[in-house]
This record gives sequence, structure tokens and C-alpha cells, in this order.
Amino acid sequence: MTDDTLLDRALIRLEEAASHLQIDQDVIEKLKYPRETTKTRLLIRMDDGSRKSFLAWRCRYDDTRGPTKGGIRFHPDSTIEEVETLAFWMTFKCAVMNLPYGGGKGAVRVDPHALSKTELERLSRAYMQAFASTVGPDRDIPAPDVYTNAMIMGWMADEYNQITGSVSPAVITGKPIALGGSLGRNDATARGGFYLVRHLAQELGLSGSRTVAIQGFGNAGQFFAQLADEDGNKIVAVSDSTGAIHKPDGLDVARLIEGKNAGRHVADMAAELGAAVIPSDDLIAVDADLLVPAALEEMITVDNAASIKAKVVLELANGPVTAEADKILTDKGIVVLPDILANAGGVTVSYFEWVQNRQGFYWDLEEIHARLKKMMEREGRAVWAIAQDRSVSVRSAAYIHALGRLATAIEAHGTQPFFAG
Ligand code: GLU
Repeated sequence: MTDDTLLDRALIRLEEAASHLQIDQDVIEKLKYPRETTKTRLLIRMDDGSRKSFLAWRCRYDDTRGPTKGGIRFHPDSTIEEVETLAFWMTFKCAVMNLPYGGGKGAVRVDPHALSKTELERLSRAYMQAFASTVGPDRDIPAPDVYTNAMIMGWMADEYNQITGSVSPAVITGKPIALGGSLGRNDATARGGFYLVRHLAQELGLSGSRTVAIQGFGNAGQFFAQLADEDGNKIVAVSDSTGAIHKPDGLDVARLIEGKNAGRHVADMAAELGAAVIPSDDLIAVDADLLVPAALEEMITVDNAASIKAKVVLELANGPVTAEADKILTDKGIVVLPDILANAGGVTVSYFEWVQNRQGFYWDLEEIHARLKKMMEREGRAVWAIAQDRSVSVRSAAYIHALGRLATAIEAHGTQPFFAG
């Protein structure tokens, strides 16, 4: 492996898409670099009286199409490159879905599981204190991401309101319902992916009952398991950060989720569920129609891509498949439904939350689901058609779809016509 960064590797997808379109060089120059990334240190008081300092970032990658939008991750391995790459992906994700947003992302390098609830609250509030002038309902709108949740968004919203002396729920999404959160935001990432697969089931060869393997059992993985299970699919394998389990005739999803919510790991529940514990690395290789990476970046690489047996990969995580692994999957005839489309349900319902906050009128769950379904199907169908017309992968098609919108917006803002005389 060369010493290129995660962002360099992500930009391969931009260049690939650009090669299919008549894109002005101005557009690529603008999208190749993050517009601004702020780095700070959050100094918080721990419960034992000591002080501890944590690295934190917020990146506003591109705001051509609207205020920057994207989650905040709390993870011990977070880096600036990761934050900037995730913000790049958000830029394209919002464009794929035609949301009036640019892309952003934030992170704190911390293991949140090692903090008490009060320490976590102080850290969340410190984040908002540090970035209060970066964010704003018309500037940059954070949301949950890996290891952050509605409770944390609630603390951050409250802190922002105290700093500004007003109540601006639209500054952050994924809030608790009581503080202006939207119904349907908690399962939105999984539900969006679920609607997408169901809509394209015939084209994907996934009609009827399917078997599913899920890598990662956090918010997206759990809700996807639940939705797929209720829809008559068999969840044959799941993993979390500590292990994986396999049961070819289907796992009891309700019990798994119950155990997970009680703080247990999936492998610890194997015996009572009648499942076998398998090495985490083997999860992607189990016999299943659909493989759902729902954990972190670059889990499927040149080293393991060839072992995948699934017909379809649904990327609920951001960036789980490397560009080189993509080629292996394409050669094997495996269709990858790419992150910037497949997991866009989360930010789409975040958009609904922001709209509801601004209009001060809230929709019922039925309306949220209907709107999400319509948008996933509309953009999913458009991407699918591009893939067929141009004989490219679904990922390339999604980038082409997004880049077309970004290019139109960049050109509409730009000075290029002036210089072109
Ligand atoms: N963190 C989610 C993502 O990566 C959601 C972002 C949002 O709702 O703004 O898409």
C-alpha cells in the first residue's frame, strides 16, 4: 500500500465519475479539497477531578449546494483525514439525494465507552462550545454518526441555545423528539437502504425471501436486521466490534437486539441463540444473498473481497469497500449499492427534521416514511438508469448523478463564464 490518504483514495471515485462527464476543470479543483477544517482540543473535567484533553475536528467540505451537513463521530481512531473524507462523502451523498446541502463532518478522538454519562455530557457540550461559530442552521448542521446518538445531539442543541440565547432546533438533527427531533430519524439510515433494495429487488435478483449477513450491529445494522427480518428475510450472520456469529437457518433478531441494548456483545449470545461463533473476518464470506457492511471504512479490501459470496452488497457504512476491492467485486458480478446512495436515508430524514424545525409544523411517521420511500426510490431509480445506460457500476453512476448536480451549482456560482469572455 502506498502512503496515500483515505481522502486520496476517495477522490479516485470523483476522478472516475468526471471521466464520464464533460466537467470543467474548475469543478474538480473545487471538489478536490475541503473548504475548511477546524481542529481544536476539548479540555474537560473528569468525574475523578482530573482534566483530560481530547482532539476534535469539524470539516465543512463544500457548501456550494447549501449549508454543510453531516454527523459527529466519537471514536478512538478518528483522524483529520477520516473527518475530511467523510465530509467529502457527505457532499456527494446530499447531491445524490438532491438535498439542499453541502457536506460536512466532525469527530472527537475518544472512546466514548470509557466515559461516564456525565463525562460524555461535558464532552458533548465542550464540542458545541468550541464549534458554536462554525455551526448554524444556515451554515453547518451536525447530526449523529458512529457512537453518537439523540441524547448527545440534545446536549449539543441545548448548549448552542445557551450560547446564542435563542432556541434554534434546526442547528442540529437527530435530536430527541422532545427537543424537536423528527419521528423516524432513529431507523432512517437502515430504512432508506431497505426501501432501496426492495425497490430494485427484481433488477438485483433479490426477489422473494433472502438471506442477509450484517457486519456491524450499531444503529444501522440493528434496524436493518429488524426491517429485513420483518419482511421475511433470514439474518444468517451478524458481527460487532468484538466478534461474529452465524446461523444458516436465521437468527432471532429481536433477542439479539434486546441483548445488545443490555450491553452484551453478539458473540456472548451465540449459545442461547443456537448460533456458531465465527472469526470476525469470516462474516463477509458466509453464504448470503445480501451482505450489509454497517461498521466502518475500508473493511472490504483486496485481501478479502474475493471471498464474498453475496449477490449484492448494501453499504450502510460510509466507505466500507476500497476502490481496488470494488474492481474485484465487479469482476465477480457482485452489485454494490454504494454508501452515498444506500445509507442516505439518515441524512434525508435529517433534512426532514430541519425542514420541520424551520416551519414549526411536524409530520406524522406515515408522512416521514412515505417521503423517505419516494426519495430513495426516485434517486435510486435515476442512479440505476445511469448505470445501465453507461454500462458503469452503480457506484460510478451515483457519483456521476451527484457530480452533475454539483457541477451545475458550481458553474452557476462561478466566475468561469466571465473569464471565458
Ligand atoms: N452520519 C450520517 C451519515 O453519514 C447522517 C448525517 C446527517 O444526518 O446529517 O450520513
